[in-house]
Amino acid sequence: MVSQDLLKQPLLSPKNSMPNDSKKTPLFQSPRGMRDLLEADFYAMQGLFERAQEIATYYGFSPIATPLIEYEEIFTRTSGESSDIVTKEMYHIKTKGEDKLALRPEGTAPIMRAYIEHGMRSMPQPVLLYYGGPFFRHDKPQKGRYRQLHQFGIEALGTQKSIADALIIKTILAILHEAGAENFFVDVNTIGDKESRIAYTKALTSFYKKHAHNLPREDQERLEKNPLRILDSKHEITKEINEQAPDNMNFLNASSKKHFKEVLESLEEMGVHYRLNKQLVRGLDYYSHTVFEVINYDPSEEHEGLALGGGGRYDYLASAMGYPQDIPGVGAGLGMDRIIESSWYKRLTPRLIKKPKFYLIQLGFEAKLKTLNILEILRKAKCPVYQTLSKDRLSVQLALAEKMNVPYVLIFGQREALDGTVIVRSMKTRKQECVRVTELAKYIKTLK
Ligand code: AMP
Repeated sequence: MVSQDLLKQPLLSPKNSMPNDSKKTPLFQSPRGMRDLLEADFYAMQGLFERAQEIATYYGFSPIATPLIEYEEIFTRTSGESSDIVTKEMYHIKTKGEDKLALRPEGTAPIMRAYIEHGMRSMPQPVLLYYGGPFFRHDKPQKGRYRQLHQFGIEALGTQKSIADALIIKTILAILHEAGAENFFVDVNTIGDKESRIAYTKALTSFYKKHAHNLPREDQERLEKNPLRILDSKHEITKEINEQAPDNMNFLNASSKKHFKEVLESLEEMGVHYRLNKQLVRGLDYYSHTVFEVINYDPSEEHEGLALGGGGRYDYLASAMGYPQDIPGVGAGLGMDRIIESSWYKRLTPRLIKKPKFYLIQLGFEAKLKTLNILEILRKAKCPVYQTLSKDRLSVQLALAEKMNVPYVLIFGQREALDGTVIVRSMKTRKQECVRVTELAKYIKTLK
C-alpha cells in the first residue's frame, strides 16, 4: 500500500524523481492521490468487493456496471453547481470532438441515467441495483482521501417507501459487519421533501444572514448558493453558530415527518443503533428526505472519525437531469479504500482469484520443456501457482517460495520429468511425497 508519507510528498521530491533528471515529469510514479494496488492490497480490495456483492445479492440487489466516463451534465445538473464535486473535484475530459465528458465522481446519477435509458421504469419496482469500482475526485490527497477512490454502491429505484431507506442502511451495515468493522455509529437526518426543504432553507438563510459577518468566507459563499451546506461546515466558528441554528424538524411537513418516523421505526425494528444528527446534510443538492453516514471512530481518540459510507434519498434527481417526471430512489456508497486500510478489516479472501498455495520449481532443461504441461494440469484442477521459468537453481527457487510464504512447493526435476512424477513438499514440516503426474490433480485436493 502506498504509505501516507508518500502521498504527502511533492511530486518532484528527491526520493521519487529520476536520477539526474529531477526537472522532468516523474513518469515512473502514479499521479498524485492515485495508487497501484499490489498483490496483498489487490486481494484485500477484491475480497471486499466480492463479499459486498454477495451480501447485496442476499438482500435482492442485481449487478450493473456503467462507464467510467459520462456526459459531464449528468453530474453538473444533479450534484448542484455549488457542490464540491462540481466546483472543485470533477475531472473534465478533453476530447477531439465536441462532447463534454467527465470521469465519474459518484455513482448515483449514472445509475439513474441507466435506469431511464434502459426503460427500467416498466420493470417491477423497486429496481435494486449494485455496482462498484473506481471514482475520481480532484481533492486534496490525505489519509483516507484519494483522487481515484473505490466505492461499492447500492440503489433502490422506483419506490418512495420508507422501508427502502431502511433496507439500504441495513445492507451497508451488513457489509461493514462482515468486513469486521468495529466502533462505528450511524448518523441519520432528514432534509424532507421539496416543500419542507424550501421552508427550512428560508429559515436558515435569514438566521445566517444575521451571523454573516462572523462566518468564514467559504460559508459566506455557501449562504449565497446553498445555505443548507453551512450546517456541515468544518469551521469551528461556524460550528458554534450552528448550535443556535433553526431545527429542521420544525420545518418538515406532515408527509416528510411521517416518512422519517417510519425510517427510524424500521431501523429500530432491525436493531440498528443510530444517532440523530441534525447537522448532517451531505454535499449534494439532489438529496431529499433521509440522509445518513456511517462514521468509524477510534475510541482512544477524541475527534470524530472517518466516514466509511453514506447515502440518502434522491426523489428529485431524475427531474434535475431533465426527465419529465420525478423518479423516487434511495442509495448509498461505501468507501472501500478506507475499509481495507482499517486495522479491523478482516482481509477477506477473494473466491475466484486466489493467492497461490503452491510454488512450482523446475530443474533442468528436460523438466522445463514439460513444465507447461504440469501448469495445464494444475490450471484444470483450479490450482494457481507461483513459478519462475527463468530460474534454474533449487536453492534460488526454494528461497523464492519461502518469500512468497506458500505452504507447499512442487518440485519437477530431470528425474521426475523422465518418471512422470512431481515431488510435493510441505514447507512447514519439510516432508515430501512423490506423486505421479496423472494423480497430481487428485493429490493436491487432499492437501489443506
Ligand atoms: P460520498 O460519495 O462522498 O458519499 O462517499 C461515500 C464514501 O466514499 C465516504 O463515506 C468515504 O468512505 C468514501 N470516500 C469519499 N471520498 C473519498 C476519497 N476521496 N477517497 C477515499 N474514499 C472516499
